[in-house]
Amino acid sequence: MQHRILPQPKSLRFTAGAPVPGPAVPTVVFDASLPAEGYAISVTPSGITIRHSTPQGLFYARQTLSMLQSADGSFPCAEIEDAPRFAYRAFMLDSARHMQTPDEIKRYIDVAARYKMNVFHWHLSDDQGYRVESERFPLLNEIGSFRREHGFGSVNRSRYGGYYKKDEIRAIVSYCAERYIRVIPEIDMPGHTKAILASYPSLSCRETPVQPETRAGVFRDILCAGKDETVAFCCDLLDEVCDLFPDEWVHIGGDEAPKQRWQACDRCKDRMAKAHLDSFEALQGDFMNRIAAHLREKGKRAVAWNESLKSGCLDSDVIVADWMDRDKLCPARANAGGAIIAEDFFHYYLDYPYAMTPVKKVYTFDPLPEGLTDFGKAHIIGVETPLWTEFIEDFEKLCTMAFPRLLAVAERGWTPEEGCDYADFVRRAEAQRPSLAASGIAMDPQRDWDPRGPDRLKKLLAHYKKTLTKEMLFSFLQKEDD
Ligand SMILES: [Zn+2]
Repeated sequence: MQHRILPQPKSLRFTAGAPVPGPAVPTVVFDASLPAEGYAISVTPSGITIRHSTPQGLFYARQTLSMLQSADGSFPCAEIEDAPRFAYRAFMLDSARHMQTPDEIKRYIDVAARYKMNVFHWHLSDDQGYRVESERFPLLNEIGSFRREHGFGSVNRSRYGGYYKKDEIRAIVSYCAERYIRVIPEIDMPGHTKAILASYPSLSCRETPVQPETRAGVFRDILCAGKDETVAFCCDLLDEVCDLFPDEWVHIGGDEAPKQRWQACDRCKDRMAKAHLDSFEALQGDFMNRIAAHLREKGKRAVAWNESLKSGCLDSDVIVADWMDRDKLCPARANAGGAIIAEDFFHYYLDYPYAMTPVKKVYTFDPLPEGLTDFGKAHIIGVETPLWTEFIEDFEKLCTMAFPRLLAVAERGWTPEEGCDYADFVRRAEAQRPSLAASGIAMDPQRDWDPRGPDRLKKLLAHYKKTLTKEMLFSFLQKEDD
C-alpha cells in the first residue's frame, strides 16, 4: 500500500481492518521505553494510539499521522515504529547576503519541522552584511548592515540592507522551540568579516577603511588574529548574540580566511611567536580556540567549518561542519572522537542549480564519509543542508531551490539507510506539493528535478557563465555518483 509519509518511518506495516474515520482523536500513552525522538502509532478499527517518551516524539507522531490520513479523511490500519537515524538534522539559511522577512523564515521553519528537522543554523554575518541588532556595537547596524549596491551581478543598483530586531529574533527562536527546533546562530570569523571591518576598521591588520562587499567571493580583509582587542570584541559581540540564542551551540565560522594580511602583520606574527605557533593556519586555530574558550566559560560549545582543522590544533570539543574536506581531516577527527556534521558542498548545497546538484544526487549521497572506524561512525552526528543567498533574492526562488532537495536531506537524516528508496521518495515528495503550497512554499516542478543529457549540459553551461568557474564545474561533474 502506498503512502505519502516523509521521511519514511523506520518500520511501517499496514494491517487488516476497516479504516478509522476522521477526524479521530488518538489515545496518547507515555512509554518510557521509547527513544527520545521516537514514537509508535497503532491504528486499528477500534481507534488510534500514539506512544511516546518525550513531547518531541509526540510532535513527530502527529506529523506522521497527518501524512497517514487518506484523501477521504480516514486513517488506514497500520503499525508504525519510528526513531531518527541521526540526532542532528539541520537546515542552514543565509540571511546575510539577502535577508528574508521574519514571516518567510517562519514559513520555512514550519515546513522543516513537519519533515522532522530539528536544527536551524542561521547565518547572520558575512562580508556583505551584519544582520543582528546590536546595542553594544551600534555601527554594526549603521554601517555594517547596509551595502551600497544590491550587488552580486544583479541589475539592481540600489542601496541594500537591514537587520533583524532583537524582538524579531526572539520571536523566531520561540517559534522554533514550539516546533522542537534548536537555533544555532553563526557569526562568521575571522574571515567573511568585511561588514564588521567596515564598521570597526581597527579590528583588521591594516586598519584601513573598507566597505561591506557587493560581490560574492572570498576576500583578503579579515579580522586581525594578533590583537587582543579583536578577540575581546568578538567575545563581547558573542555575549550579546548569546543573550538572544539560548541554544548551547554557537557557530563561529572559521571558513575561507585568506592569510595574506596576517603574513604582513607584525601583531599577528607576535602572537604566533608568543603562542609558539608554527604556521598561519595554526594562528587561525589559536584564534578559534580563544573564542571557543570564551564560549566554554559561558557553558556554550563552538561549531566551526572544516577549514579550521587545517590548523592541526583546533580544540577537541569544537564541533566541525564538513562542507569541503578534501584533505579527509574530518574522518580522522571523527575517528578520534570529534563531532562532525555532514553538509557536503557537492551534494547538500541547495543554492546550486538542479543541473549541478540533481535531487537523486542529494538523495543517494552517503552522509558517512569513507575511512571511518565504527567508533568514528558514531561521531558523524548528523546532516545539514545549507542554502546561501548571494544569487537568491526572493523567497519563491529560495523555496524552489530548497524543495524537494531539503526533503531529500530530511529523509536521509531520519530514515535508516535500508529504508531509503529513491523512486519511492520521488513519489512521496511530489505528494507533498499541495500541503507545501498551503503553507506558502513553492516546490520546483518535478520535470526539473533530475535533468539529463543535453538538457542538463545546456543548463550547466548557462549557470557556468554567470557564477561558476571552470574548476568548480569540473569538480561537480567528478563528484557524480552514477
Ligand atoms: Zn594582524
